[in-house]
Amino acid sequence: MSNRTINLDDALYDYLLAHSLREHPEQTALREATRTHARAGMQISPEQGQFMTLLVKLIGARCTIEVGTFTGYSALTVALALPADGKVLACDISDEYTAIGKPYWQRAGVADKIELVIAPAAETLGALIAAGEAGKYDFAFIDADKTGYDGYYERCLQLVRPGGLIAFDNTLWGGDVARPAQDDDTRALQALNDKLHRDQRIDVAMLPIGDGLTLARRR
Ligand code: CA
Repeated sequence: MSNRTINLDDALYDYLLAHSLREHPEQTALREATRTHARAGMQISPEQGQFMTLLVKLIGARCTIEVGTFTGYSALTVALALPADGKVLACDISDEYTAIGKPYWQRAGVADKIELVIAPAAETLGALIAAGEAGKYDFAFIDADKTGYDGYYERCLQLVRPGGLIAFDNTLWGGDVARPAQDDDTRALQALNDKLHRDQRIDVAMLPIGDGLTLARRR
């Protein structure tokens, strides 16, 4: 019994996966294909993906945004959780990484739900706001350059509806956020975490899943 979050050793983590994970075969295959990638650490963990699946279904999301797609596991995961008319607007700057995921999106039958835009996400999101799309999205997942998070947050906060959800990946940053910052990424995450904690425009929770996942519900 504990009044704080339990530590997961390898055996307990394996147990958690073995007793809860329900991946689509293409999710498993894409995760395997990304495992040996030089930047494989950028992919979210499968239990985090499954938690996001549950969140997307709980809020009845249909229109979603992703900032930072990498090889496409999270976009695939959210797309699988959406209804047939749902969509993921996936923002990334790398054709090379996102191309890895596309065949898996196809085989999973969700490619038509994912609109990939290769451009700086701040521009893509700004253009949506300018086009009158504010308040039309249900869910946003931010998992890109850490120094850009605050800018993505402010744009996504306009784009999601009241009651909509913004999820931020890597907010515990391997534990570095709890130590004096040595680099710009850590400083940016520390500043964002401080801001979200105080921000009265949202309800907030910070979860020790994956590398830290912060959830912000627009009030
Ligand atoms: Ca990440």
